Amino acid sequence: MRQRHALIIGGGIAGAMTAMSLHRAGISSSVHEAYPSGADDAGAFLVLFRNGLEALRTVDAHRAVLDVSFPAERVEMLAHTGDSVGVRPVAGGTGTTGALGPRTLRRATLHRALHDEAIRRSVTIEHGKRLVSADTAPDGRVTARFADGSCAEGDLLIGADGLHSVTRTLIDPGAPAPRHTGQITVCGYTPEVPPEAAPPPGTYRMIQGRRAFLGCTAAPDGEVWWFANTPGGERDREELATGTPAESARWRDHVVSLFSEDASPAAEIVRGSRGIVATNAYDMARTPVWHRASMVVLGDAAHAAAPNAAQGASMAIEDSVVLAKCLRDLPGVSEAFTRFESLRRNRVEAVVERSARLNDRVVPRPAETRPRARRDDDSGSDWLLDYRIDWGAPVGDDAGARA
Ligand SMILES: Cc1cc2nc3c(=O)[nH]c(=O)nc-3n(C[C@H](O)[C@H](O)[C@H](O)COP(=O)(O)OP(=O)(O)OC[C@H]3O[C@@H](n4cnc5c(N)ncnc54)[C@H](O)[C@@H]3O)c2cc1C
Repeated sequence: MRQRHALIIGGGIAGAMTAMSLHRAGISSSVHEAYPSGADDAGAFLVLFRNGLEALRTVDAHRAVLDVSFPAERVEMLAHTGDSVGVRPVAGGTGTTGALGPRTLRRATLHRALHDEAIRRSVTIEHGKRLVSADTAPDGRVTARFADGSCAEGDLLIGADGLHSVTRTLIDPGAPAPRHTGQITVCGYTPEVPPEAAPPPGTYRMIQGRRAFLGCTAAPDGEVWWFANTPGGERDREELATGTPAESARWRDHVVSLFSEDASPAAEIVRGSRGIVATNAYDMARTPVWHRASMVVLGDAAHAAAPNAAQGASMAIEDSVVLAKCLRDLPGVSEAFTRFESLRRNRVEAVVERSARLNDRVVPRPAETRPRARRDDDSGSDWLLDYRIDWGAPVGDDAGARA
């Protein structure tokens, strides 16, 4: 029997991870990425929790990520007054022997680690290939057409093309667009923070300001990495730009101003920073149609959580492994896609909902500036963090079963 070939659109987290998972499942693929290299907000950083790391482990890709990331063990909450309102172990920490605890790394570093690992496994990644359309022949073969005039053929097409997915609208022209959450996430890196303001090693310091929320942690070299959830409507690309020193300073000063009336160290942490990135925060509560004929979406293309729960990348990684298992174990592409959706939809939509709830809390409404001793972001996380994919177990017929 001829080996199936998958066209993967998008070389982000889901794209590289799907290619590796398919490779493990014995299915060939090629990755087609729009940008000449990486993603445009690759300067930001992210956290991978235990569930995402364990999903990486199912295809033996976790070491590549562990090698280039650093751990966190605890979370400290600070009020806008600067008073500590509690320190606790980070959710999904390394309490159990052999467990993978949360890891922080730059998005660009994660991309590079996954790309290098995929290439090491003989995956082809083509850059400068922006999908514009796709046709499915009566026999199910797909032709993807790219903006540079080239095309590629495969037996199936997997849209890992992120939040503003073209594949999603090719599958369902009526698919809803992402919703702006009313926040702009700004992040940056501060090489020298006064010791009294810097978070202790291994700690995420979360500061609930009166007008915005700041989270920060210290990298092993002492540089403080921070993100701020700031209130604001959707901005266009020019407004979000931070490429020139003036643009970068404008966003930095804006964030400093949001914390300037607080007595917390937030403004001090942001003041000396560099490498600023500003991003619209979106989510997508429900994409009604995930697949049609030989095309499917996964990762942010199918479901996008607001950044607050820090789970979007882990969901994309889990999706990739589960889809590869379905394609490995079920005879038809359409059957595999249906099974994939039944295994994943409830979980990812619950994560989107959880993030949306947090979103309402991290940027306080005017009357809501008192610190909360306990946040619901870490309570009741077992269903989220304890999710495991058993690579060796075949995907069964029972809809709704665990992957
Ligand atoms: C500010 C912020 C902070 C976040 N923090 C965290 C965090 O701490 N932890 C976490 O788990 N998640 C976090 N997330 C969410 C996480 O970044 C996403 O869920 C994750 O990147 C989704 O991966 P993906 O591969 O599906 O999409 P993406 O990473 O967006 O990759 C999509 C890829 O497709 C390419 N592409 C797009 N269109 C086309 C096209 N037409 N043709 C070809 N290629 C195309 C893009 O260039 C890109 O490389 C955060 C998100 C934001 C915005």
